[in-house]
Amino acid sequence: MELKITCIPGDGIGPEIVAEAKKVLNKTVEKFGHSIQYTDILMGGASIDVHGVPLTDEAIATAKSADAVLMGSIGGDTTTSPWYKLEPSLRPEAGLLKIRKELNLFANLRPAILYDELAGACPLKEEISKAGFDMMIMRELTGGLYFGERKTVTENGVRKAIDTLTYNEEEIRRIAIKGFDIARKRKKKVTSVDKANVLDSSRLWRAVVEEVAKDYPDVTLEHMLVDNCAMQLVKNPAQFDVILTENMFGDILSDEASMVTGSIGMLASASLNDSKFGLYEPSHGSAPDIAGKNIANPIATILSAAMMLRFTFDLDKEADAIEAAVKQVLKEGYRTVDIMSEGCTQVSCSEMGDLLVERI
Ligand code: NAD
Repeated sequence: MELKITCIPGDGIGPEIVAEAKKVLNKTVEKFGHSIQYTDILMGGASIDVHGVPLTDEAIATAKSADAVLMGSIGGDTTTSPWYKLEPSLRPEAGLLKIRKELNLFANLRPAILYDELAGACPLKEEISKAGFDMMIMRELTGGLYFGERKTVTENGVRKAIDTLTYNEEEIRRIAIKGFDIARKRKKKVTSVDKANVLDSSRLWRAVVEEVAKDYPDVTLEHMLVDNCAMQLVKNPAQFDVILTENMFGDILSDEASMVTGSIGMLASASLNDSKFGLYEPSHGSAPDIAGKNIANPIATILSAAMMLRFTFDLDKEADAIEAAVKQVLKEGYRTVDIMSEGCTQVSCSEMGDLLVERI
């Protein structure tokens, strides 16, 4: 198979971690008899510096012509970088919102897994962390509060800001279907998270999710209020399989779940549309504080590349090979600085990439 992949190295540590992911991908496809055609595009600060905008229409067209997009991360230091003196629509993150909207990437998948070898990094009490956890947060990505109408006005000398949270039943139905489909390949449980005791958008969410659930009698559905879910993630994370939720709740809960693993450099993500197309990127940001030092952990990006093989190309064996290599290097005690612990061997970003390549 020939894989057409558009890469967005991006800003900060982005170019370093994408280089390692490409190394691992190249070895994997070579071993399994495939080939890859890469095209790079600029996005975020890197695009602002060259084109004055965080994402050009040409870059979007290139991304659309590929089967999948592999991204590092974008953005700079939000207090010191000149990119953040630009008006909001020209800042690095505007590129990310634009590509998600243009590619219709409405479903965001973020696995939060506690690896046995990294259990010590989990900030929870041992009596909770020893149960382990492996959950998938499925977040709606193109609707809700972040895309609703917004304005700031002054009324009688008082400034007032208004944001609008809107969902229609089609937006809810398509993400719910994705959530149930994924649950079917896992432990067959969906926890739908909302604020149905207060918000109309949540009451519609709950009603539509229940309609969809009728087509999945083999999957258990439960509803949970978002404030309870935030608590349950630290009290009993093992209870979750697929957490299905809207945009802003998912933004916050997925970051909370990441922190509960204690290893932000390990967490992959995928954003999918109705077809097999997806954008794959680590859950973390561009880490400007460590950019250019060859110390970043490339594993989140490498595991994102594995998700790409699995979800876009249906290359499950190839994805398994990458995930097994990651488990193997952890077992052998190799760690980048962010996950380093006593008795382990500290390696750089590129050394971690090399170790993984050797184990594919
Ligand atoms: P961050 O995730 O970049 O960094 C938080 C902390 O985690 C930092 O100390 C960093 O050094 C560390 N870290 C992150 N990834 C790491 C890795 N792979 N290996 C080792 N350590 C790692 O979050 P931030 O500092 O809040 O944001 C920095 C920039 O990234 C901002 O401009 C923000 O807007 C942007 N950002 C981009 C994305 C994206 O591209 N999707 C996501 C989140 C943040």
